[in-house]
Amino acid sequence: MGMRIDLHVHSNVSDGTESPTRVVFAAQEAGLDVIGLCDHDTFDGLMEAREAGRRIGLSVLGGVEMSTKYKGQPVHLLGYGCDPWNRPLFTELASLRAARVERLQAFLEKLEALGLPLTEDEVAESKGLSPVLGRPHIADAMIAKGYVQNRDEAFEKYLGEGKPGYVERYSTPLKDAIALIRGAKGLAVIAHPWGRGSKDVLTGDALEKLAKAGLEGIEVDHTDHTSHDRELLTELGARTGLIRTGSSDYHGTGKTKNPLGVYTTRPTAYQEIVNRIAARGGVGPS
Ligand code: AMP
Ligand code: FE
Ligand code: FE
Ligand code: ZN
Repeated sequence: MGMRIDLHVHSNVSDGTESPTRVVFAAQEAGLDVIGLCDHDTFDGLMEAREAGRRIGLSVLGGVEMSTKYKGQPVHLLGYGCDPWNRPLFTELASLRAARVERLQAFLEKLEALGLPLTEDEVAESKGLSPVLGRPHIADAMIAKGYVQNRDEAFEKYLGEGKPGYVERYSTPLKDAIALIRGAKGLAVIAHPWGRGSKDVLTGDALEKLAKAGLEGIEVDHTDHTSHDRELLTELGARTGLIRTGSSDYHGTGKTKNPLGVYTTRPTAYQEIVNRIAARGGVGPS
């Protein structure tokens, strides 16, 4: 059997439920050889994940999943192989994390008005040591209070875009984020491009333009895509010269439909990513 490569997984350094070490061990148990750790808006889990990977012989490619916006829609952008200390990227990630905290009061006020009061302390408890506050942490606090059964129900009823408890926040314009990743010697891939609202704006034409602006790949095989969309995206990627990846978008027990390795990246696509990162002096897998 060939190499099994899952290029987009989360730890509790953002909104996954397991430590980077635990994610690495779970990846090996799931029969994977390589993971790309892509926590939201931070590189903080990478040192620990690499250390765990070295101990058991699992390869870790460093990544980040940036919160961006394109034509008014939220788009998640994966950056692989970036220099985590690159000043412009580092500064932008800090702004994104700050914007996540700034909206907490607004969330608490909306939930209060819905008859679902939560305190900052209760959210802090579910966030734990994560440097990144996400809606899943608010969902976890709601579960602890007995307001909902699980994260899915919290998003479905209250926290998802357009739902009564939703609050906007700052995110980086997509083209700027692509340039920041490239400037940090990394490689930019759009995560789940046809998941949720981004399907309407990430047309073939748009992807072609974004490729000219430095985008290098799209995540095709993902649980947010139907099999038909995956076929269309495969063709589109081939036509526009974008690398096509696949991943689980694992979040531990936070997302039940995303077990490790449910989708993977072909070894040839992975090799192309690693080669490009090496050629520009970025941070390769360990
Ligand atoms: P935020 O980072 O605060 O914008 O929250 C978005 C995150 O919530 C995503 O990265 C997902 O991990 C998670 N998420 C979105 N929809 C759902 C859902 N229906 N169930 C569980 N988690 C979700
Ligand atoms: Fe997430
Ligand atoms: Fe995402
Ligand atoms: Zn993700």
